[in-house]
Amino acid sequence: FSSVELTDHFLKRINTLDKKVNSFITIDEEGARQAAQQADDRRSAGDNSVLLGLPMAHKDLFCTKGLLTTSGSKILHNFVSPYDATIVSNIREAGAVCLGKLNMDEFAMGSDNESSYYGAVHNPWDLSRVPGGSSGGSAAAVAAGFVPFATGSDTGGSIRQPASFCGLTGIKPTYGRVSRFGMIAYASSLDQAGTFGRSAQDCAYLLQPMAGHDARDATSIKRDVPDYVADLQSAAAQADADKPFSGLRIGVAKEYFGKGLDAEVDANVRAALKQYEELGATIVEVNITDPEITLATYYMLAPAEASSNLSRFDGVRFGYRCEDPKDLADLYTRSRSEGFGVEVQRRILMGTYALSAGYFDAYYTKAQKVRRLILQDFKNAFEKCDVIASPTAPTAAYKLDAALDPVTMYLGDVYTIGVNLAGLPAISMPAGFTESGLPIGLQLIGNHWDDSKLLSTAHIFQ
Ligand code: GLN
Repeated sequence: FSSVELTDHFLKRINTLDKKVNSFITIDEEGARQAAQQADDRRSAGDNSVLLGLPMAHKDLFCTKGLLTTSGSKILHNFVSPYDATIVSNIREAGAVCLGKLNMDEFAMGSDNESSYYGAVHNPWDLSRVPGGSSGGSAAAVAAGFVPFATGSDTGGSIRQPASFCGLTGIKPTYGRVSRFGMIAYASSLDQAGTFGRSAQDCAYLLQPMAGHDARDATSIKRDVPDYVADLQSAAAQADADKPFSGLRIGVAKEYFGKGLDAEVDANVRAALKQYEELGATIVEVNITDPEITLATYYMLAPAEASSNLSRFDGVRFGYRCEDPKDLADLYTRSRSEGFGVEVQRRILMGTYALSAGYFDAYYTKAQKVRRLILQDFKNAFEKCDVIASPTAPTAAYKLDAALDPVTMYLGDVYTIGVNLAGLPAISMPAGFTESGLPIGLQLIGNHWDDSKLLSTAHIFQ
């Protein structure tokens, strides 16, 4: 196939079927065809880059020059970015063809993609169910076969949980591995970009050009980037045929199998662990911080950072502005009240409260201290094991109109958020189905910079 043919095939599929899924906010047919033509030209000139000409799409919080970038919000309904996020230009230079921008929970706040101003996304496995969130558009687009892989972002599980709801593999790399420049911030100390694919290998292909130091992101780390695909291929080649995981110690924490875990998810994840064991891995018991403490810490710190990050959307510099403001205060107030959705406003309020004088030490400073202890608990666990396994989410995909109250929705993040607080890498991979045919995800958590190990551990299993 030429890239032009391939791109046309996927665009046609999107144009016919995305009406039912709603995974795209913007379809960039013209840009995609141009990029595909350029890829074909590069190929005829002898360029053999592995991503050259392959279609993909970005979550709509990565700035794309000349293309609408909304972050799922009304407040950015008309924002055409003047520059590219670092990962967007890196992926483009690697030759991949961007077909458009993918739906998401508003400002990446949510777990079901229902907070998007651009409408809910439907899970391709069952259109009456949510695809997960906040990168629900990315997961649904890959699951529906609209693109072979896609980018996402993960602040507290937003890659892993939708990957598990949509039967995909998704990786959230070590914090600092991928540049955040040009990624619209939710909670800067937790946000990390990553990839969705049908397999760990697909995730590795797309992650390769994204990873690496970027002088424009002060938290991005100077450290050599492994060759992820070569690493997983050589790990597979070296592995014993009968016992490919011999020597691998998988940590299992009872804290991850507690109250609230759906019985079918529990059974499938345990069956996957049994298979790992049969293939040579050893299961060891570890302890991690009580998930309820982790949840409380996250829902203190993430909104605090969000309230500060979102102060830039003021109706003055870019995005939505209310009609006929009476004065400056009215302009700020109405632009923000009309431009932000309910969940975003709730988080701004919670975050502002936690940061306000008089409450700062009691809430914010305390949560920062607990965050350090959560990291320490993970570090202690990694003294005993190489990876930690858990369910990715307590349930499979739920119904679109479930209308969960906020706290119940936050509880769904219980297995994923500790990873972000500790800056660790983690991957979610398919691990069976419920009786009604919904995918279930297994999460593997690695120590800092063990991204490659996670990819190969998932790859060999798949
Ligand atoms: N569901 C979590 C939240 O709403 C995580 C979101 C994310 O990772 N962006 O904050």
